[in-house]
Amino acid sequence: MAFDYDLFVIGGGSGGVRAARIAAGEYGAKVALAEEYRMGGTCVIRGCVPKKLMVFASSFPGEVADAQAYGWEAQIGAFDWGVFREKLDAELTRLEGAYHRNATAAGVEIFDCRATLAGPHEVRLADGREVSAKHILIATGGTPVVPEKWREAGCMTSNEVFLMDRLPGSILIVGGGYIASEFACIFNGLGVKTTQYYRGAQILRGFDEEARGHISGEMCANGIDLHLGTDILEMEPRDGGTWVKSTTGHEATYDAVLFATGRKPNTEGLGLDALGLELGANGAIPVDRYSQSAIPSIYAVGDVTDRANLTPVAIREGHAFADTVFGGKPTFFDHGLIPTAIFTQPEFGTVGLSEEAARAQGPVDIYLASFRPMRSLFAGRDARALMKLIVCAESDRVLGCHIVADHSGEMIQLAGVALAMGATKADFDRTLAVHPTMAEELVTMRAPARSHAN
Ligand code: NDP
Repeated sequence: MAFDYDLFVIGGGSGGVRAARIAAGEYGAKVALAEEYRMGGTCVIRGCVPKKLMVFASSFPGEVADAQAYGWEAQIGAFDWGVFREKLDAELTRLEGAYHRNATAAGVEIFDCRATLAGPHEVRLADGREVSAKHILIATGGTPVVPEKWREAGCMTSNEVFLMDRLPGSILIVGGGYIASEFACIFNGLGVKTTQYYRGAQILRGFDEEARGHISGEMCANGIDLHLGTDILEMEPRDGGTWVKSTTGHEATYDAVLFATGRKPNTEGLGLDALGLELGANGAIPVDRYSQSAIPSIYAVGDVTDRANLTPVAIREGHAFADTVFGGKPTFFDHGLIPTAIFTQPEFGTVGLSEEAARAQGPVDIYLASFRPMRSLFAGRDARALMKLIVCAESDRVLGCHIVADHSGEMIQLAGVALAMGATKADFDRTLAVHPTMAEELVTMRAPARSHAN
């Protein structure tokens, strides 16, 4: 049967664009891609990229305070959100254009509209046209979820943050995951009075417990009013803002409320039900390790599969899909060892097992350094950095590395290489320290702080 395309990709984010470019550009497949909003997807348009630029913007008051402590006659003035927002918009438009151009240059035909599934090989475009493809790749990403009770309250999610007309004077952030914690630090750094409610006992559930405690301690020390074990009980518009009463009795009125209470896969209305494709509980598309769904012609990569919701993971999954289906090289991405950074202030770089997860697997030695970094110490700040290695007591393999320190995202990339190579503690020990740096602590930890025999 002749198809209009070899591949039709739904979604122009990191995973979809990578798959389309490799399939068309490297393997000569006839590829089309539909994107309903802006090319680049969550990462470029309303995620990693604008977030990181806001992290940079929010770091300058601290830099200037340090500069003063080092003897500079420096003063920081007011932050002009309008100026930043205009530059941000221009940068995102530039990146969106680059995504468009690069995909087109690789031979991908782009439809700037919504597409849904009309059959195992059929795609319906928003204008009613139907096209066929031998393979369909769903790469529609995810979308923020607000608890049902507050869905009509008109609060922000991370989608709206970058579109704010002005910076609020005060903000309540609900949630304790990546997004909530990063935005709490960003707003706090920008001078916004920041309160964070998290329903659990400690933010960043799932990560190394000691690192979580260290980060939340530093966030509070930096001025964030963090309420653990706390959720919203009542909320209503009041005095031009939003009045909130918490489950613990805390009451205040905020200029803005941001829900960062998780994300869900973007599968609503895609037409998957009609095809009989059973979705996961949160709407995720179940796929095998080659990203193939239960319908053999339909594949899915990225956040829509809810495996590990990170840009580099989606890119690898998209690339592996193209290699497998169009390159004749069956390839899958191994989700076992994922280095990642959370851009809180201080930053958190992490790879491998937490102490808790490693303990559950067998005997481990824990190497630990908690110290005041030279730069902030000299500036008279009390900030502490944390470096932690989780080592298998039997094989000496380093199973996990967790760093809470400025620029730890940069450090963890290289620790990730070492762990991917199967580095042992002895390998770390025989690596010469780079002095004076914070990272040298990773290779100078002599004795374990504690051992768990299991
Ligand atoms: P997460 O799932 O990480 O966090 C959601 C948070 O909201 C959790 O603290 C959760 O609490 C809380 N929550 C969920 N439901 C409710 C509710 N009904 N009421 C109150 N609190 C609730 O999601 P995020 O949206 O923060 O991030 C989504 C994903 O995006 C991340 O997992 C990550 O993969 C990716 N991401 C990566 C970044 C990076 O690489 N730096 C940056 C931003 C996002 P509980 O813990 O109790 O479930």
